[in-house]
Amino acid sequence: MSEILVLVDHVDGAVRKTTNELLTIARRLGEPSAVFIGSDVSAAADQLKAYGAEKVYVVDDAEVKGYLVAPKAEVLQQLVEKTSPAAVLISSNAEGKEIAGRLAVKTDSGLITDAVDVQPGDSGPVTTQSVFAGNYTVQAKVTKGTPIITVKPNAATPEQVEGAAEQEKVDVTISDAAKSAKIVASEPRKATGRPELTEAAIVVSGGRGTGGNFEPVEKFADSLGAAVGASRAAVDSGWYPHSFQVGQTGKTVSPQLYVAAGISGAIQHRAGMQTSKTIVAINKDEEAPLFELVDFGVVGDLHAVLPAATDEVNKR
Ligand code: FAD
Repeated sequence: MSEILVLVDHVDGAVRKTTNELLTIARRLGEPSAVFIGSDVSAAADQLKAYGAEKVYVVDDAEVKGYLVAPKAEVLQQLVEKTSPAAVLISSNAEGKEIAGRLAVKTDSGLITDAVDVQPGDSGPVTTQSVFAGNYTVQAKVTKGTPIITVKPNAATPEQVEGAAEQEKVDVTISDAAKSAKIVASEPRKATGRPELTEAAIVVSGGRGTGGNFEPVEKFADSLGAAVGASRAAVDSGWYPHSFQVGQTGKTVSPQLYVAAGISGAIQHRAGMQTSKTIVAINKDEEAPLFELVDFGVVGDLHAVLPAATDEVNKR
């Protein structure tokens, strides 16, 4: 069976949910092998058993940790040359996309970014993406080299399947060029206690309709264990930080459930959330364009609807 390389997305050894999603997708395509790059990651690599990794290539190198993406692309290049995988799957975040781009150049391969689905095809994986601000859904496949595919969070529900997760230590040589930029300091973002926006299974977003009061949005989000998002109008008004903006010039989310409160549904906002599995809108204007897209709509004032919904959820 053909090997599929999955680059493990982790923070200091703590594996992110997106990795389990990639392993689940990799199982559809072939035999998943995880690539765990970092320092002191051998113990953490064992967790990948639970999501079906048959093999884990461990690159336990303190040097790689201190640098930006270039060494990781070199590590993957060396593994691609060694194992000739049928595909390489990488998380679609800023770091993952840069690694994927560099890897595609280094291996003279085709690259597909931001896939929301990946399925096996006759001659390699077939991806689904939402393009042109969400106006088109396209199916694509790589026709040259090793398919390098970045996959958006929530593209698959992680399935627990026991894998062998046999660890293989890999010694790699990092070029001087790849070490030319180094991380000198990093500071963790202030913890909100909520899941990361692009990874959350549920997102509750607020727009101009909040009038600047995000408390009902946050309380409802907390009752569901959800992340909080915001429209650009809310961000531009200074009501919520830009890192929480959903849309064309913000983050793209694809959760199981997206709740939009006081958001009209401009095309640029839709571009960041329309691949969500279930969409709910709360808007006092029954003509709001977002109602065309939703699975469930509530016509009403969010300042009344959200607290009532929060109470109902908290009763359960
Ligand atoms: P509005 O369009 O003003 O809508 C507010 C809604 O709230 C209305 O539908 C109103 O009926 C409703 N409302 C008001 N009060 C209440 C209440 N009490 N209860 C319930 N409903 C209420 N936008 C993004 O969101 N993300 C982006 O990344 C983004 N990128 C852009 C990039 C470009 C190049 C451009 C030109 C625009 C971009 N925009 C983006 C802006 C976008 O076009 C819209 O202006 C923006 O999404 C509107 O935000 P909104 O829906 O919160 O505000």
